Amino acid sequence: MECRVLIIGSGPAGMSAANALKGMDGVCVLERLTDGVFGRYHSVCGEAVSERMCRLAGIDRESMVSDADAISISFPGGVDIRVPVRGHIIDRPGMLRRMRENCGAELVRGTAVSVREEDGGYVVSTTAGEIRCRYLIGADGAHSVVRRDVFGSEPAGMLPVVNTLSPGDGGSVLAFTVGGGFDGFYSWRFPSKPGTVSIGFPKGAEEPDGVVSRGARHLPFGGVPRAVSGNAMLVGDAAGLANALCYGGIGAAMLSGKKAADAVRRGRPETYGRWYGRSIYRDPRFMEAHEAFSAWTDGDIEDAMEPFRRGYSLLRGARAMLRRPSYAGVYMAVWMALRFGW
Ligand SMILES: Cc1cc2nc3c(=O)[nH]c(=O)nc-3n(C[C@H](O)[C@H](O)[C@H](O)COP(=O)(O)OP(=O)(O)OC[C@H]3O[C@@H](n4cnc5c(N)ncnc54)[C@H](O)[C@@H]3O)c2cc1C
Repeated sequence: MECRVLIIGSGPAGMSAANALKGMDGVCVLERLTDGVFGRYHSVCGEAVSERMCRLAGIDRESMVSDADAISISFPGGVDIRVPVRGHIIDRPGMLRRMRENCGAELVRGTAVSVREEDGGYVVSTTAGEIRCRYLIGADGAHSVVRRDVFGSEPAGMLPVVNTLSPGDGGSVLAFTVGGGFDGFYSWRFPSKPGTVSIGFPKGAEEPDGVVSRGARHLPFGGVPRAVSGNAMLVGDAAGLANALCYGGIGAAMLSGKKAADAVRRGRPETYGRWYGRSIYRDPRFMEAHEAFSAWTDGDIEDAMEPFRRGYSLLRGARAMLRRPSYAGVYMAVWMALRFGW
C-alpha cells in the first residue's frame, strides 16, 4: 500500500493531525486497536483539559461532559490549596470516534512493527502488510515504534499510572493528594460522567473501593532530543509532550498533531521542529521540578508548603521563594503547570 502521509496512531495526537489534513489526498491512519479495546484504552485517563487548551486544540463543546472550576491540592501536614481554574472533563473515546468519522482519511487496522527509510520516504512493516509513505507522523504514544526506529531515542521520563472509575460525585473540583504514601508522586480524583469519579495513582498503590473499571498506561514526559528527522515527525506522547508535573497531555498532543499537519501541508517538516523546540510543553523547567519534587520527603513537602498554610496567592508565592530559594524552581514550575500544562 502507498500513501502520501501515514499517521501511526489514532489517539488525540493522530486524530488531530488527520483532521488538520482533511481535504488532502493520500492520508492514511494506522491504528492497532479494534473499536472495543480502543474505547477502553482511551478511557484510562482523567480526561481533564483546561479551557485554554480546549480552545488551542480545537476541542468542541460536544466532547465536554462536565466543567471544572477549581483545583484543590492536599499536602502532608494539613495544608490545602485551592486555585480557581476553568476547565472541562471530556469524553475522550467519543471525541476520537467523531474525529475519525469526519477526518476523511483512510483508516487501516494494523500494528506498526518496524519502520525503515527508503528513497526519501518510509516503509512501515505492519500486521496488515507494508505501507510506503512520503511523510510519516508518529502519533503512536508512549512506546512509539517511529521514535525507536527513526529517532533512536526515549523520552526523558516515563511513569506507569493506574486510572479507575468509581461511583461517587466529584463535583466540579479537580482534587489532588500529594505525598502521604505516594512518595514523590500524588493521586487525583476528578469528576467524570454523572455518578462517577475518575481516580488516578501510581501503579502499585492501593486501589480505592468500589472500582467499576480499571486500566493502566505509561505516561511519558520531558520531551525527546528531536521531533523531526527528514520527513518523519513525532507528536503527542511519542514526543514526550505530557507535562512532567501535572501529567496533562491531551491538549499538547492535539496541538502538536495540528502543527505537524501544518508542516506537511507546507512541505516543510522543519517548521514543526522549530515549533517543538520552542514549545512551552517541553520546557526543561517542568522536568527539573519533577526530578526535584520526586526526591522530596513528606517533611520537605510540609516545609515547602508552610507559607501557604493560610491559602495560595502570588504574593505568598513570592515570599516563599525568598524564604527558600532552593525551592523556587518547583514553585515556579507548579505555577506554570497550572497555567499552561493541562
Ligand atoms: C492514567 C492517565 C491519566 C491521564 N489523565 C490526563 C488528563 O486528565 N488530562 C490530560 O490532558 N492528559 C492526561 N493523561 C495524558 C494523556 O492521556 C496523553 O498525554 C495523551 O493520551 C497523548 O495522546 P497521544 O495521541 O499522543 O497518545 P495515545 O493516546 O497513547 O494514542 C496512541 C494511539 O496509537 C496507537 N498505537 C500505539 N502503537 C501503535 C502501533 N505500533 N501501531 C499502530 N497503532 C499504535 C494506540 O493504540 C493509540 O490509539 C493521562 C495519562 C494517563 C496514563
